[in-house]
Amino acid sequence: MTEANTGSSPAETYIGRFAPSPTGPLHFGSLVTCLASYLDARAHRGTWLLRIEDVDITRCKPEYADDIVATLTAFGFMWDGEIRVQSRQTMQYEAVLRHLIESHAVFACRCSRKEIADSAVDGVDGPVYPGTCRNQSIPFAGNAIRLRVPATRNCFDDRVQGKVCQELASEAGDFVLKRRDGLIAYQLAVVVDDAEQEVTHIVRGADLLDSTARQIYLQQVLDLPTPTYLHIPVVTNSDGQKLSKQTLAAAIAPADASRALCRALAFLGQAPHPATTNAPPAEILSNAITHWQPDAVPKQRSAPEPATFGDSQCTSKLIT
Ligand SMILES: [Zn+2]
Repeated sequence: MTEANTGSSPAETYIGRFAPSPTGPLHFGSLVTCLASYLDARAHRGTWLLRIEDVDITRCKPEYADDIVATLTAFGFMWDGEIRVQSRQTMQYEAVLRHLIESHAVFACRCSRKEIADSAVDGVDGPVYPGTCRNQSIPFAGNAIRLRVPATRNCFDDRVQGKVCQELASEAGDFVLKRRDGLIAYQLAVVVDDAEQEVTHIVRGADLLDSTARQIYLQQVLDLPTPTYLHIPVVTNSDGQKLSKQTLAAAIAPADASRALCRALAFLGQAPHPATTNAPPAEILSNAITHWQPDAVPKQRSAPEPATFGDSQCTSKLIT
């Protein structure tokens, strides 16, 4: 079902997505991201897609993907169309890589992780690649493939975070599109998927803010349209760490769906609405769509997890 925009002009087309990685069950941080992308899509009468980002098969498990789908259903989220699974799209990614090789936009790199760390400065996402293999004729087979990036300052306007700029060469460096072990890198998969699914609006966590300039640059190299971006704050625990599998974030439980949704709405700065914490998840979501205010999302890269809710009006306890 991709005609959710029937009746509106092409300029108003909205296709959004939620794209979890099945490295564990959904936690409160993933719920907040899911909720924000869902509300923004539905408030725009847009299409909302679900994509399983399991391109890194060393970290992802199919049973977690099944668990994520079941949890989203229990929380009342309804996506449009088929679920796209990255591990089934390898042919598309390889086709794009061949195109990039033919156009000399990429080069092969045989540096080890240690060699890069030894001779590099830290950037937004670990060591900045020092360019060792950039001008060598190294065979592509069996080596990593990196995209050449220019020494230009690239900026974009984020709907929540405002103007975000990055100098690709000094802050990110020539980045990996295919790993040495043969796996397609996230940056390539996400750009190809968003383009093939015709995603127009990306709503996701601010932990990906520093990846966005690289993704926009890759879109430009591939002559693909750039979606609009909205990065919500990352949810942190009492130690100030991002909620994740690594920081042992608790799984969200379907039995507690309504309260968890209300806490997520409070985290997103949404004003109180008629539903209470006792209402079924579908009713809370429906109210939240009607009252969705993206401008109220805190303009921060991270914010602490809100306290647990009692029985009350949904979202009445806003974060401070
Ligand atoms: Zn290299």
